[in-house]
Amino acid sequence: MSKAFIHRAVPGVQALSPYVPGKPTDELQRELGLSDIVKLASNENPLGPGPAAQAALALACKELGRYPDGNGYVLKAALADRFRLSQTSFTLGNGSNDILEIIIRAFAGPGDEVVYSQYAFAVYALATQAVGASARVAPARDYGHDLDAMLGLVTPATKLVCIANPNNPTGTLLTPGSLLDFLARLPEHVVCILDEAYCEYLADQHYPESLDWLARFPNLIITRTFSKIHGLAGLRVGYAASAPELADVLNRVRQPFNVNTPGLYAAAAALNDHVHVAESCRLNREGLAQLTAGAAHLGLDYIPSHANFVTIALPGDAADIYRALLQRGVIVRPLANYGLSRHLRISVGLPAENARCLSALADVLAMLPVASA
Ligand SMILES: *Cc1c(COP(=O)(O)O)cnc(C)c1O
Repeated sequence: MSKAFIHRAVPGVQALSPYVPGKPTDELQRELGLSDIVKLASNENPLGPGPAAQAALALACKELGRYPDGNGYVLKAALADRFRLSQTSFTLGNGSNDILEIIIRAFAGPGDEVVYSQYAFAVYALATQAVGASARVAPARDYGHDLDAMLGLVTPATKLVCIANPNNPTGTLLTPGSLLDFLARLPEHVVCILDEAYCEYLADQHYPESLDWLARFPNLIITRTFSKIHGLAGLRVGYAASAPELADVLNRVRQPFNVNTPGLYAAAAALNDHVHVAESCRLNREGLAQLTAGAAHLGLDYIPSHANFVTIALPGDAADIYRALLQRGVIVRPLANYGLSRHLRISVGLPAENARCLSALADVLAMLPVASA
């Protein structure tokens, strides 16, 4: 019976394979009966929410009997104030995943094309397929976006291009200059999604200059999230910034109450908790250094990362190493579904968690039959 219904789904949905999330800690606990599990698989902030967000959450709990504010006034006002844009420039989402899907659903359908890069975030491919649009995938350059190759794939049928900067799962970064050049050459009929889920980790380097570009590029949508540096992955809050005309389109597609009340309050508070953001950024910088030094010590190559994770290259198939790490209570992320079957992505954790991961990795590698390096 279940077999029959998949054939009744629309063609794009029939061809979908579900998004593969990082393995939840509870699940591994149930499977192996381990108690002390380290999860470095989903690029979460190991510190969790800061004190401002936690205080706001406690207040929001008192309002759970009511529907949330469907316009998200509290959060949009905080965003507008912080980034000096009009509230009408923002669209809120149940995580930025929700926003990405809203954008793709609003602009692409059968016969339309969506351009993204090899090794791009999996949600672009999933959402493109679900709406029955065609993906045009540009080969990566050094594991990152090749913007010229992406421009070369744009045709009159192209509705959208998706760029993650920094990119997940490779951690690569494009310069502001190369992005500006790309935007200037992109035909105006094509909407460009610039997915900045990790931009806050760049701190002083580039962030948040890209929001200034919105005034020049009416086809640009910048998406960000409270799931990463703000430590609120479990609450599901993300946002898009764009010209108000584009925000109006997205607003028509989204569900009326797509962001919940605790999410709205906590995100508004987290946005201005500069101490927590700075502390999270520092912890990440040190953790990345710890993980990359550890990988180098084990003789492993890695892709230099600008985000809160690092993708390492292994001497053999990563699936076996992933499973062996699970046996030792360490959850990382295999990347075979991205076409990177010899790589593992490790999220930056607390110093002790990073150390645990590295020592488990050393253990596992020592037991491996010697392979070509
Ligand atoms: C984590 C991530 C997101 C968003 O996650 P949400 O939790 O849905 O906000 C978006 N894009 C990229 C590239 C990511 O890695």
